[in-house]
Amino acid sequence: MNNKDMKDLIKKARKLAKPFRVTDDKFRLKDIDPGDTLDLTSEDKPRAKEALAMGVDVLAELQDMLYAQDRWAVLLIFQAMDAAGKDGAIKHVMSGVNPQGCQVFSFKAPTSEDLDHDYLWRCMKCLPERGRIGIFNRSYYEETLVVRVHREFLEHQKLPPDLITKDIWKDRFQDIRSFERYLTRNGVVIRKFFLHVSNKEQKKRFLERIEEPEKNWKFSANDTKERQHWDDYMEAYEDMIQNTTTKAAPWYVVPADNKWFTRAVVAAAVIEALADLDLHYPKVSEAKLKELAVAKQALQAGK
Ligand code: ATP
Ligand code: MG
Repeated sequence: MNNKDMKDLIKKARKLAKPFRVTDDKFRLKDIDPGDTLDLTSEDKPRAKEALAMGVDVLAELQDMLYAQDRWAVLLIFQAMDAAGKDGAIKHVMSGVNPQGCQVFSFKAPTSEDLDHDYLWRCMKCLPERGRIGIFNRSYYEETLVVRVHREFLEHQKLPPDLITKDIWKDRFQDIRSFERYLTRNGVVIRKFFLHVSNKEQKKRFLERIEEPEKNWKFSANDTKERQHWDDYMEAYEDMIQNTTTKAAPWYVVPADNKWFTRAVVAAAVIEALADLDLHYPKVSEAKLKELAVAKQALQAGK
């Protein structure tokens, strides 16, 4: 891709991602419509898919430089209700990047070994190396979501009882903000995505999982149980986003009722994050240039 096309696409990506980045603590979830597709209609779907494909090319080029430069690490965090499309978004957005430069981790219910440690421990072990894009499919944010909605999970965390106060969620937000600030100061670029699906669309997708045999494996009866706590989850998500969106580690609340749109917005936000790093291939030293010239001569002389 030539430089002009790349610049052009980066500009478009910034424009697409911007409305969904949460910039202040007065954010309200109800202001974001899960069915939003901006001014694009379903007739624009093929064009959006094409744009995503081009976006994936840009991402691949940026990631190649990130890897070569070996200075920054990028951490992408995905949170959502079930069936919001986390897996599909991760799969499509990262489809063009070199697998060697990408590390994906899913965080499910903690194991007994995990519970023997502080809650960041299992995630810290999975942080991306410099030059890599790390993806967390769910994350330590579950500690302020599922654990908040189901207080009994907190009882199983083996915390000293004195530490379980009414301020526990506020404390967790503060600790997470500090942790992310620490990472940022170490060259880890953080972007967080909440894929915002509507209750109605989730129901539709669950029914598809039940009715279509090739989707049966995705269905878990527990998912329908969690639906009963929808409002509690939305409250927890809103509070979490308000308290943990920062300039350096912003949340994006991405409308998730239309998968093609969700993927385009996520790709755009990742492109924007990488473009902000002003990536370039490492400059080669004089000595290295000499070495290359000697090698070229030798090869051309048939040795
Ligand atoms: P899928 O979309 O395929 O269902 P998933 O990410 O929902 O993927 P599951 O196998 O359903 O994967 O497992 C994730 C479950 O683990 C979620 O219900 C989540 O709330 C739970 N979980 C994650 N982290 C924690 C945690 N710290 N404490 C308790 N439960 C957690
Ligand atoms: Mg699940």
